[in-house]
Amino acid sequence: MQINKDYLDAIDIKGLEALLDDTSSFKKVDPSEDDSKDEIKKIKTNCRACIQNCGVVAHVKNGRVIKLEGNPEDPMSKGRMCAKGLAGIQALYHPNRIKYPMKRVGERGENKWKRISWDEAIDIIAKKLMETYENYGAEYVFCSTGGGGNPEIWSIARFCNIFGTPNWFEPGCAQCYLPRVLAYTMMYGGDDPSIADSNALEIYFPEETPMKTLVLWGTAPSYSCPATGGGAVQDLRSKSVKTVVVDPRFTPDAAKSDVWLPIRPGTDVALMLAWIRYIIHEKLYDEEFVMKWTNLPYLVNVETKMFVRAKESDNPDLPDTFMVWDSKTNSMQPMEYPWNDELSPVLEGSFTVDGVEYKTGFQLLKDQVEEYTLEKAAEICQLDADKIKEAIELFAKNSPSGLAIGVATDQTPNSVQAAMGAATLDLLMGNVEKPGTLLQRFRKSGTFDMPNYPVPIAADRLPPEQLKKRLGGNEFKGLGIWYAGHPTSILDAVLTGEPYKPRVWIERSGNKLGNVANSQKWEKALKELDFIVHMYMYPTSFSAYADILLPTKEWLETDMMVEVCNKLFARQGVTHLWETIDETVIWSMIARRCGELGHEACRKAFDSEYMGKDLAYWDSVDEIFDHFLSRIDLTWDKLKEITPYEYMPKEDWKTYYVYKQIDPKTGKPAGFPTPSKKCEIYLESMITLGRTGRPFSPIDLPPASKDYEPLPYYLEPHEDPVNDKELTKEFPLTMTGGRIPLFHHNTLRNVPWLRELYPVPEIWINPRDAEKYGVADGDWVWVESKRGKIRALAWVTEGIKPETVYMERFWNPETLDTETHGWKEMNVNVLTKEDAPFNDVVGTYTLRAFQVKVYKAEGPPEGIWTKPEDFRKWLPQPSDPTEEVLSKK
Ligand code: SF4
Repeated sequence: MQINKDYLDAIDIKGLEALLDDTSSFKKVDPSEDDSKDEIKKIKTNCRACIQNCGVVAHVKNGRVIKLEGNPEDPMSKGRMCAKGLAGIQALYHPNRIKYPMKRVGERGENKWKRISWDEAIDIIAKKLMETYENYGAEYVFCSTGGGGNPEIWSIARFCNIFGTPNWFEPGCAQCYLPRVLAYTMMYGGDDPSIADSNALEIYFPEETPMKTLVLWGTAPSYSCPATGGGAVQDLRSKSVKTVVVDPRFTPDAAKSDVWLPIRPGTDVALMLAWIRYIIHEKLYDEEFVMKWTNLPYLVNVETKMFVRAKESDNPDLPDTFMVWDSKTNSMQPMEYPWNDELSPVLEGSFTVDGVEYKTGFQLLKDQVEEYTLEKAAEICQLDADKIKEAIELFAKNSPSGLAIGVATDQTPNSVQAAMGAATLDLLMGNVEKPGTLLQRFRKSGTFDMPNYPVPIAADRLPPEQLKKRLGGNEFKGLGIWYAGHPTSILDAVLTGEPYKPRVWIERSGNKLGNVANSQKWEKALKELDFIVHMYMYPTSFSAYADILLPTKEWLETDMMVEVCNKLFARQGVTHLWETIDETVIWSMIARRCGELGHEACRKAFDSEYMGKDLAYWDSVDEIFDHFLSRIDLTWDKLKEITPYEYMPKEDWKTYYVYKQIDPKTGKPAGFPTPSKKCEIYLESMITLGRTGRPFSPIDLPPASKDYEPLPYYLEPHEDPVNDKELTKEFPLTMTGGRIPLFHHNTLRNVPWLRELYPVPEIWINPRDAEKYGVADGDWVWVESKRGKIRALAWVTEGIKPETVYMERFWNPETLDTETHGWKEMNVNVLTKEDAPFNDVVGTYTLRAFQVKVYKAEGPPEGIWTKPEDFRKWLPQPSDPTEEVLSKK
């Protein structure tokens, strides 16, 4: 790798000077040799270049950030930062930031702009919103987020609820994280074990945890969150914790694992069902836990798929009474919560009473997995049966253990079932709330209503009749857990006008055209819209199609409360540039103007009596943080001063076996926050969700077109390389995805330092396939699916399993001003699939496990930058801090 010294002119990187010779023309920047004699302030804040929120100490001189380093007080990052975070200075001072509100002056897509004032920008937006609201209805406006970086997820949902539109979406939801949140919330009611989403907190205490085995399934913490999870997994290995990695890529985590299962993309659920079958057949599960603390002994009516209830509870703190089969009396008997020692329930069995067939939940699970032998899974997943067995035995016998599941399984239509399968494995093993396991309900500060997102979303403000109009909302009711709409349903509505044609889009994200599937179809939709707003830190491909651009703050300018284990941190703006405004405030500004123009609900949203717990809209984020911090007798100013604040001793915070604690209201164990107060491996609530939308919808919605299944099932990838011989003749390779450690979603492709390290996207291809398709290492190649074609640089490597290729998604900000606007050259989402089949519960489409072909190209796409010197234009520019004159808008 070459080091371009110019890049380092603007950043002090300790230790790198020694690498440069004395004759170097490299200019060293050392804060301690400050010739202006001005003080260097060290301000504690938190990174947000990804969602890990690592503690940071920013060195600031004359308002200019000159150095970043990790804050060792952070219990997760422990003073580490990764390349993305350290690149924060180049992102902050990027010459091509959106500095002022801008109005389009050329044709849409011409990318010609005129600077306007904030007042004018907000007025234009609000008038367009009101015109649409009055002429068509609130639902004709939709909003979106996602894309990484400095996300502001709940301000969007809040605004939509108040404005009255049910339509906001994040490509991330059903394709990233929501399937896992949904399954773990419904099945045991605690945090999911996603390391990249700052959960699985047990791993951050390597000195204390008795953990013996960690399974990393479709997750690579060394790539996705190197400073936190990546470091933690490394620390665990140094304490002899064994790891199993399920990933078609030979990532650093796979390289250091004890067992690596290079699975065929999209077949994870088949492998999970085989793990479950093996654990059941070999009786490796925790029998006492399964019997007493899961719902598997309860009897299910085979025809209705619902549990048989002896009694419905009229006490909200106690569950219904379910029926078990008592072996002492050989009859169906009610089981009072939590347990009745007089009974001797069976775990397995099928019983007929009065002509009605009943099975235990356990029996139904056993039946469900019966066909998935190790050999069958080996065949489907292209793995070695003995290796699968070795992995399962490590997980099941070398315990305590835990299974961390990542985004990989969220990106195919089998998404929710994969999360259910993973949860089932941990719950069968009793890997919940005990030391050394990942499924925990460690305590929280109690300041936030929603974890780490303090903006109250005002869900109750959305009128029921508007909720019913959510695009995709009736079919994919699982999205209701995040109050979100379905991207493809919104896209299709714009293109077809069915059931109605949305007309206005307000968007904030790294680059929507980089992160929605089958991007070219979205380009068509953009042309159908009346009005488009883009708010972000930089212009992206999406900006080129907008009518108004709004400049938002980078993370080094942003305030936000951050809860990390037993500490509260203050992410505080350490400087402020140009006319950027915090997004949380921008939505308030739009709502205020809509209220002034006659939108009743927006006007009332500023009335604190009317808004109650949802909080009245604000002029600054301080008002929100002061409100929430008052719950622990703190103010935002105080937290900034003392950050981090240890709100609870670690020993109290790390509470195990929460379910065993006695609930003073009932005198019984508290159990789990599920309808049965047990772990719900047989997920009856999934059926109720599909039929009514509850518990996530406040009203009954019409049933989905078919019932959601209460147990996980395997779905072969739609583009099926095993059975569809015609397809594989033309498209023989299966594409998978995943992160590299330099970017978060669509962010940071404009940062010289990172682009120097990774100038263009590589396609990983196995040497066997490379030879077969005439590709050599370092060749430019075309990558083509049924939907489009892009280019990439070939990396021929054993680090990807045969017949599979890997690409990281990418876009090229350097071609923003060309006809491609940077999203058509090397964006893997030109190839992905946005249409059916969808996941039945949340509508996930196909971002991984689809078929492509790879063949030699004549060279790189026109206009892209590949050499370090190309990126000079984007080096940080001198930018004086701006007075906070705009924050009171
Ligand atoms: S992992 Fe890296 S990018 Fe993410 S918060 Fe930490 S330092 Fe920032």
